[in-house]
Amino acid sequence: MALDNGGVITLILDTQDVPPVHEDNALGTSPFLLTSDHYGRAIPRSLGDLGLPPDELTRHIAWDIGIAGVADALSKHLGAHLIAQRYSRLVIDCNRPPGVPSSIPRISEATIIPGNEALTREAAQIRREAIFDPYHRRIAEVIEARLRNSMPTVLVSLHSFTPVYAGIIRPWHIGTLYHRDTRLPPLLLKWLRAEPDLVVGDNEPYAVSDETDYTIPVHGEARGLMNTGIEIRQDLIAEDNGQRAWGVLLARLLPQAYQDLTAAEAPLR
Ligand SMILES: [Zn+2]
Repeated sequence: MALDNGGVITLILDTQDVPPVHEDNALGTSPFLLTSDHYGRAIPRSLGDLGLPPDELTRHIAWDIGIAGVADALSKHLGAHLIAQRYSRLVIDCNRPPGVPSSIPRISEATIIPGNEALTREAAQIRREAIFDPYHRRIAEVIEARLRNSMPTVLVSLHSFTPVYAGIIRPWHIGTLYHRDTRLPPLLLKWLRAEPDLVVGDNEPYAVSDETDYTIPVHGEARGLMNTGIEIRQDLIAEDNGQRAWGVLLARLLPQAYQDLTAAEAPLR
């Protein structure tokens, strides 16, 4: 968290900055372990506003609009442990492998991020150690402890997406995202599609990959955990009532998908 910069020690987080990791229901016994990489949009005080006007810092480029309320509601209704990141993806994206260009974006959609231009390797490393590492270390610790205690564990990574991207309208209300786990996502898709009036994306608007994701490949696939990403269109969860309603819906459907799995297979990890 500190850099000896020609004799000047630079701390990225000071005592007035919030801790990077937010947790809820840490003692929850649900098989679902919820993560939210883009839950918050905090910026360390030492980085100011990254050179951006306030309206850019509340857009999707800064965080996943609405997902915090959904994650909180889902955690509550499932009794599931939630681990979430409070800092903006514009500071460092916790769902990107560190070092790739989109990890600390110099440009996001069409917006140049002045505070991320000409960043030294050391400055990038400081952000990683202060924000990215504690979050992923905590997820790894929690998974380790659950496996040690033989707790069934299904990783659910929560996100939201914009209704329009690059001029293209996205019709889906919700999508499941996956790559190597082909067990849970089809069952969740089945239950989502059984809901009236829901437009459901199968690996839409994104699919998971090792290059464009971190949480599912590292904590889910590499650990052999069942997993799925969930993307909800942000205009549906911009307000409290939408967030609560989606939390309630997913708290009903995820256990149904899990029940299908446990009925069909030998005991899972
Ligand atoms: Zn996201």
